[in-house]
Amino acid sequence: MPNANEQIEELRRQWGRRLFILGHLYQRASVLRHADAVGDSLELARQAAARPEAERIVFCGVRFMAESAAILSHGGQTVYMPETAAGCPMADMATVEAAERAWQFLAATGDAWLPVVYVNSSADLKAWCGRRGGSACTSSNAARVMQWALAQRRRVLFLPDEHLGVNTARDLGIPDERVARFDPRLPDGGLTPAAARSAQIVVWKGFCIVHIAFTADQIRRVREQLPAAKIIVHPETPAEVARLADAHGSTSQIIRYVAAAPAGSTVVIGTEINLIERLAEEYRGRVAVKALRPSVCANMAKTNEQNLLELLQRWPPDRVVRVPAEIAADARRALERMLSL
Ligand code: SF4
Repeated sequence: MPNANEQIEELRRQWGRRLFILGHLYQRASVLRHADAVGDSLELARQAAARPEAERIVFCGVRFMAESAAILSHGGQTVYMPETAAGCPMADMATVEAAERAWQFLAATGDAWLPVVYVNSSADLKAWCGRRGGSACTSSNAARVMQWALAQRRRVLFLPDEHLGVNTARDLGIPDERVARFDPRLPDGGLTPAAARSAQIVVWKGFCIVHIAFTADQIRRVREQLPAAKIIVHPETPAEVARLADAHGSTSQIIRYVAAAPAGSTVVIGTEINLIERLAEEYRGRVAVKALRPSVCANMAKTNEQNLLELLQRWPPDRVVRVPAEIAADARRALERMLSL
């Protein structure tokens, strides 16, 4: 009896180019070995849009990513997930209702605002952003998208990740006192109208549970124990961690950082553990790649070889990722604006 690996490969051969499997970099290696394309959110969004001949797209990642693939897909394509319960707690931290309340509060300041929505958000929130003339962004292009918004002499409401918003604002040289935090659990987000008026960027107080596990103390310990090591963290880590690290960047930027590291050096990384373990394996003997601490995305881990195989064998209808047409049309505007920048 062939094992799961062999059965999946046989099914991929049978489907040929009619099947396109996308795998996010935080997936385990046993899943990624079956992917036609591996990348971060931005690369996978581009890849999904660039394969009109594929009848079935299988997204090995979390729900918001599969929704983006469905939104950008072409007529006649169907997007599936091996495990539809793979969500993202950060994406759930900003609902359209709460975003609209924030929007009304900010609009009352009399200034012009634009929403910028991190792709780690629901299709509904992206649609809301598209209707408001805003753009989606990923951690790779957040700075470019924020510059686009600010160049229109607009203030920015950035959702749902506080830390990516704050780190990006710092990268752009925006002073900390011009960045305000909107806490959706508090009346008016905990802001006074004067505080909102003095802000250039208002960031939503959402966070990624995987990346807030990294702390300034961990960085200080690495500096003591491995003084020659370079440290790079993902921009979803808190600002004090990103500031103490040697660099911060998206998953693709982290990969390039390791690739450019001199032979014999050590790179310590603060992001999801699956990516770090794969880099450690790939660069073994050339660059020592270590985790700042092991931090696992439990939702990414819900996809495995077994549920991928079940999907390819049976194509259960409940694993289709559906986005209502009117939501998809508005969300597409926010995503296409991002891809055009
Ligand atoms: S790593 Fe964080 S942001 Fe990414 S899917 Fe997991 S919980 Fe969501």
